[in-house]
Amino acid sequence: MAEETTPQGAPPPAPSATPPATAAPPAPAAAETAPPEQKIKVRKPRQRSCDEKDAKGKLCAGHLKRWYDYPKDVQAKIGEDAEIYRCEFCKTLYKPDPKQMPHSFTLRY
Ligand SMILES: [Zn+2]
Repeated sequence: MAEETTPQGAPPPAPSATPPATAAPPAPAAAETAPPEQKIKVRKPRQRSCDEKDAKGKLCAGHLKRWYDYPKDVQAKIGEDAEIYRCEFCKTLYKPDPKQMPHSFTLRY
């Protein structure tokens, strides 16, 4: 005696008119997890102030200060004992003009 009760043909449980309250749509979280990349520019000859522009196109004009106590990850980019300057406002890093570098300077990778 084979009396199988197959649900074949049975309609799926119809959802009610109002679907159950679902969670809010997933928030776009892709772009806000990455840390901002430290910008490193090269100083123009005799450049003493920052020429970065903000989102509104306003010139930063922050003073470029010699930066000595840079962290390890910055050192990895610019090399040991490298001369580096930093804008006091937007923190953009400036490397000295390569034309003014001493010839004894060796690149490290
Ligand atoms: Zn700046």
